Amino acid sequence: MENILTNFTFHTTTVEEATVSLKSDVEKGLTPIQVKERIEQFGLNTINEEKPISPFQILFSQFKSPIVLLLLFAAGMSFWFKEWLDGTAIVCVIFINAAIGFYMEFKAQVSMLALKKMAAVPAKVLREGKLTEINAEEIVQGDIVFVDAGDLIPIDGKIVRSTQVLIDESALTGESVSVEKKMGVLPENTILGDRTNMVFKGTYVFKGNAYILVCATGMQTELGKIASLVHLSDQAATPLEKKLEVFSKKLIKITVGLVVLIFVAGLLNGQKFMEMLETSIALAVAAIPEGLPIVVTMSLAQGMLKLARYNVIVKKLSAVETLGGTNVICTDKTGTLTQNKMGVVLIKTPSVNWQKDADFEGNEEQVKLITQGFILCNTANLEIANNETKEIGDPLEIALLKFAQLQGGDITAIRTQFNKKDEIPFSSETKIMATLHEHEGSYITFAKGALEELLPKCTHILENDTVPMDKSKQDYWIKEAEVFAASGHRMIAIAYRKDKTETTLSTDSLVFIGLIGMIDPPRPEVKAAIEECKMAGIKVVMITGDHPTTAQYIGVQLGITEAGEAVMIGKEMKHFEDLTKEEKKKWLNTDVFARVNPQHKLDLVKVFQEKGYVVGMTGDGVNDAPAIKKADIGIAMGQRGTQVAQEVSDMILKDDSFKSIVVAIRQGRVIIENIKKFVTFLLSCNLSELLVIAVAAVMNLHFQMLPLQILFINIITDVLPALALGITKGGDNVMKLKPLKASVPIIDKNRWKLIFFYAIIMASVCTAGVLINHYLYHKNDVWDTALCNNILFFSLILCQLLHVFNMGTGTFFKSEVMRNKYVWYSILVNIIIVFAALQIPFVRKALNIVPMNLNEWVVILAVGLSFMVTVQLAKVLKLFKSNK
Ligand code: ATP
Repeated sequence: MENILTNFTFHTTTVEEATVSLKSDVEKGLTPIQVKERIEQFGLNTINEEKPISPFQILFSQFKSPIVLLLLFAAGMSFWFKEWLDGTAIVCVIFINAAIGFYMEFKAQVSMLALKKMAAVPAKVLREGKLTEINAEEIVQGDIVFVDAGDLIPIDGKIVRSTQVLIDESALTGESVSVEKKMGVLPENTILGDRTNMVFKGTYVFKGNAYILVCATGMQTELGKIASLVHLSDQAATPLEKKLEVFSKKLIKITVGLVVLIFVAGLLNGQKFMEMLETSIALAVAAIPEGLPIVVTMSLAQGMLKLARYNVIVKKLSAVETLGGTNVICTDKTGTLTQNKMGVVLIKTPSVNWQKDADFEGNEEQVKLITQGFILCNTANLEIANNETKEIGDPLEIALLKFAQLQGGDITAIRTQFNKKDEIPFSSETKIMATLHEHEGSYITFAKGALEELLPKCTHILENDTVPMDKSKQDYWIKEAEVFAASGHRMIAIAYRKDKTETTLSTDSLVFIGLIGMIDPPRPEVKAAIEECKMAGIKVVMITGDHPTTAQYIGVQLGITEAGEAVMIGKEMKHFEDLTKEEKKKWLNTDVFARVNPQHKLDLVKVFQEKGYVVGMTGDGVNDAPAIKKADIGIAMGQRGTQVAQEVSDMILKDDSFKSIVVAIRQGRVIIENIKKFVTFLLSCNLSELLVIAVAAVMNLHFQMLPLQILFINIITDVLPALALGITKGGDNVMKLKPLKASVPIIDKNRWKLIFFYAIIMASVCTAGVLINHYLYHKNDVWDTALCNNILFFSLILCQLLHVFNMGTGTFFKSEVMRNKYVWYSILVNIIIVFAALQIPFVRKALNIVPMNLNEWVVILAVGLSFMVTVQLAKVLKLFKSNK
């Protein structure tokens, strides 16, 4: 095993010293053997990676719950009183309970791990001389990492090569101004924030790019050291889980109170102490919904996995809930609403008037400059490998390259002849990009960008000759752009400047060449998705950097806005703090915002949130990060998005499509709806058992449920049907309802009423069944306690199994629950278990099952049916508001 330094003060050394000490190679990076050894020695590059709890630990934890202690106590008492059968049966129940708890927790954990893997951040490293993309977790000390604008820094390292790299270290140092980093040696006592030759994990590249020698990974990084102090936990309980935990605790108190009441009533009515104790314990075990939070976690995690299959990576469990309540989506245009597959379709200069498929001709100088400008003022590339052209870079720039190539422009030759000296990268703030090139001793600057931004920088225009620009010419070109934009063209302008002597890159005193129009068609699936949003009460707002007229055209095509509706332009938008009430109102009523920059996006989120909206906001660039972070649901693009945007987001769209947002919202709603379904189901079933037993105990009836029967029902109905309900596909009206308000509890007043209604009806029909059977068939006999008990037992089972179908919305036979095959499977399995129980002598005896004749089975069937009819009738009569 190699011995490499871990406590080296890398900022004080030269790159060579550091490279030698880390046994690395700046040009080639590490070898696979070195990487393997270092992973073994130092582990993966992860922060605070608490080891996943082992399956054994999960299993063990099942036996630590108070419920198990209660059951153990009951089993102990049974053995003490030599009730061997009861004791053994209760021990069986403990194991079955533990197995179910284990299964659910294990599954939730597996889902969470799978989700974590999906959100893995990639990194580019030099390995054996080649730049390869790996999972950032696999970076080791000594690796050479390449980072570009928008990338997260995945390690602590020393700069070995950089081009004007600016790092935002605010996450680590709190300093909001980006710091320029370069090679160098610094004194030992230089504080972290001043170590300009080092970069640190958790920060990100604001501009430029750099090669970095990795000095520390994972917990050895500065971020790792902080994390070990504060013990960061990345998956806190979601608000829903917290709400349910509080809710469960309340329920436990109420249940314990009721159980004590039943216990005392039973004793006062002369029941045996031991029997009452066992009944009370069984009741407590059955009625306490201690497993609720984990079922919810499982349900949320499963929902997230399902979304991953639809190209949506949801990074936090809590986001699934927020999705359900989202009522405004602010979306980018290019790439999210449109295909981002661009093609140049028109070029207009003073002499060229080219439209697609025509010959590209006109003033020779203009034609030449256009081709050169397209190739030079461009960061994209077309690489030919294995007879295939690989397109690398921004689609708009690829379109320009393709056009230039089609006109005979040789990309490599032109880029070699015109050596690039400097570049001002395109940014959504300036909306301009410029490059400076040297060619045979003279210099040429090319600039391209939004016309409104570029035109004021042009002092001249290239007609037959270079002539000064004037107001009428400016107006003419603005009008021209407007006309093309009105038919959906994405417009850019291009300009140049020649300098005979060496110069620095600037966008002053440019010569205007002309306008270029591109078509970026809308994604075909988006129109329907927007329609769905409208039905679901979700407002869709387009925020784009593009021309207002282009934006409006696309907006109208997709149904976001209507022709003639006003578009708000970035320049008209004040900062949030300066906005008047009227202006905010105007913002809230606008559907399309054009020529905006990222600051406007942040302000828009604030305006919506102030009005109580739950905002989803899309973004891709470094500068979009604040708005994404501020939004309730920050949505980053998987293909176009920078790592920073993805890091701060709650959700990543792998296919960049708007449709996926709507799919996620739908799924969010379905999950919340399902959680409501199974909570309602479980609570109403538990409550019905409590009521039946309480009534029998308090009224001293001739029959009572037995402890093992209660536990049996609990296992039968609580587990499989509830789990099946948790994965029901949404009802037809999921996207027809208004978004859920976050302040409304899962179980609101109306739902409580409903739960009580279900429980009372179920308890009443079951009790009535026993009484009817007795008075119908055994009028003159003494009470057959065992038979009465059996009728009660089977009636409750039947009612509870049928009750699953009451959880559906819409008409009974067409409800989503009916269509859920897992519900049917769960019921089938339960019926098999009941029949098996009837056949196995040990279980029969433990459950005190006695033979019953056909009449008695008919009574049970009638009980089940009357329960269903009553509930369905109440639904038809719309007796309860949250009867959805
Ligand atoms: P969205 O915000 O919906 O993605 P967008 O892509 O049009 O919209 P920006 O990327 O900020 O927004 O572009 C704004 C304008 O800048 C475009 O209308 C175009 O005129 C110009 N532009 C876009 N990309 C480039 C580029 N690579 N080089 C020069 N100008 C560009």
